[in-house]
Amino acid sequence: MNTTLETHINSFASVQKAIQNKTLTCAELVEHYLKVINEKNPSLNAFLEVYDEEAKAQAKIVDEKIQNGTAGKLAGMIVGLKDVLCHKDHKLGAASKMLEGFESQFDGTAVERLLKEDAIVIGRQNCDEFAMGSSNENSAFGATKNEIGTNRVPGGSSGGSAVAVQAGMCMVSLGSDTGGSVRQPAAFCGIVGLKPTYSRISRYGLIAFASSFDSIGIFANNAADVAITLEVIAGKDDNDSTVSQREVPKYSELLNKKSENNKKPKIAYIKETLHSEGLSEEIKAATVAKIEKLKSEGYEVEEVDFSLLKYALPTYYILITAEASTNLSRYDGVRYGFRSPNVTDLESMYKKTRTEGFGKEVKRRIMLGTFVLSASYYDAYFTKAQKVRRKIQEAMKELFTKYDFIISPTTPTTAFEIGKYEGETVELYLADLFTVPASVVGIPAISIPNGTDKEGLPIGLQIMGDYFSEDKLLAFADELIK
Ligand code: GLN
Repeated sequence: MNTTLETHINSFASVQKAIQNKTLTCAELVEHYLKVINEKNPSLNAFLEVYDEEAKAQAKIVDEKIQNGTAGKLAGMIVGLKDVLCHKDHKLGAASKMLEGFESQFDGTAVERLLKEDAIVIGRQNCDEFAMGSSNENSAFGATKNEIGTNRVPGGSSGGSAVAVQAGMCMVSLGSDTGGSVRQPAAFCGIVGLKPTYSRISRYGLIAFASSFDSIGIFANNAADVAITLEVIAGKDDNDSTVSQREVPKYSELLNKKSENNKKPKIAYIKETLHSEGLSEEIKAATVAKIEKLKSEGYEVEEVDFSLLKYALPTYYILITAEASTNLSRYDGVRYGFRSPNVTDLESMYKKTRTEGFGKEVKRRIMLGTFVLSASYYDAYFTKAQKVRRKIQEAMKELFTKYDFIISPTTPTTAFEIGKYEGETVELYLADLFTVPASVVGIPAISIPNGTDKEGLPIGLQIMGDYFSEDKLLAFADELIK
């Protein structure tokens, strides 16, 4: 690697400076990342497709724009996209056989905004099928491996996107987070992962899983790179009626304006997370150590009770399966991708296409969702879960009247071995124990690195903030990382 690249590659601000000083070009950057991908991707399986020629051609165009002074604000950012984001004239598969041969006819809003600011997309990234999973083992195209130990999972569902940043195969990845799919893999891979407030980023062009939870999320090496990316892709959009109309703050500038009045944020940690049965001793110790460190730096950190915590996971799994069963009804063999070749009539086409096209976990969720929505059980499960969701939301809102942030471990364990939980669905669902509360509530949450365990596996710290407090959240995360 040339020395310019080596000193700049971990921060977009530094890459941009080198580009401005004419010591680095986008062509060199793309060449560098393609080389790393060529070396590492065969064993890690993070990218399902690499756009080498296209990225090189785009780099040339962006380099010219830089010369002319017309380049966008993400010139020099090399990004990867999880295989659930529409990118015009590119394959899109949700890592499922069901979308075999499908190509997107348009750019999703987030992707369009990245491209407009001259980010260069280098490839399409592996994930759990239809973003359902916590280990990336549910991909129809093979598991993604954690770079730290290739016998380990990278987390999921956005595992490929996390590993791509972890292994230096791109600078920033866009993933999706419905219940933890950005934060949990970020924790397992030792990088930064943000799930913004629900509705902060348009969902137009994001393959729907559970629409009242789905959020596009961002992976990067640091908070500043997340901030500038969020600033570009967030905000109102005529193509998504649920997206927030709020102004998008200049997150990247606010990052450096923190603690102007020297007032330190007030922090809480939830008792029930630290005393949770499944929490590994080492993660507990790392979290407690962080709490003590914050206290010693003058932060007010208090323990709070949140007895509803235990209902968050069941509430999540009732609601998301219900929404998934509805959203995935569109894959019927008529409109998208795969159709079973063994059909005799219309009904057998639906049945066989769905039986052969979907993987096991997706089918399990469709069936569960159909069950909780069925006439005899609708009130007992779906309506009840909606009510519990509201209660959790209200309790969380109450906490944010007193505290600026709530911290917890991101995950109960570090990256586990591939195959460890085969056939043990509930064990895998428990990987989301600490991430689903923010999803049920719709608040922003970020995972940042918090040391490693004895085996050298990364530990994540999750910071949750109030609705639309991404500016404060990113500034605080930045401070903790430094
Ligand atoms: N692991 C969680 C699940 O399987 C989260 C998925 C996600 O956020 N897309 O539902």
